[in-house]
Amino acid sequence: MIGGVNHIGIAVRDLERSMELFKKVLCVESFHRETVVEQKVDIASFKAGDVLIELTAPTDDESPIAKFIEKRGEGIHHIAFTTEGIDNELQRLAQSGIQLINTTAQQGAHDMMIAFLHPKSTNGVLIELCESQRQ
Ligand code: ZN
Repeated sequence: MIGGVNHIGIAVRDLERSMELFKKVLCVESFHRETVVEQKVDIASFKAGDVLIELTAPTDDESPIAKFIEKRGEGIHHIAFTTEGIDNELQRLAQSGIQLINTTAQQGAHDMMIAFLHPKSTNGVLIELCESQRQ
């Protein structure tokens, strides 16, 4: 089952400067910091209501975020939806002809398993499914 919006990922070049910016714009008081080695990114996230905003900066030129910024500049990178039974959902989507970037779930930030759908299949929007591993 796919539920509500879990988080919105924003691609940024400089995490420190972006944090300063969002402190100013949304009066954010504290950030959760995390490096996701598998995705080659540094993340600073904060809650806006029920939705998490993830400022995401590449740690490496080979990071998918580095490639995104190079091609499209900084900005909204993806929208993530809370998912239950992520592997079943991926199977369902593949069967209904949606192109997947990840055919199986990968380790993401916040102790979640994540998978991306290809934006070619989803109106140019990079969609992430994420499932919490915490009980
Ligand atoms: Zn995400």
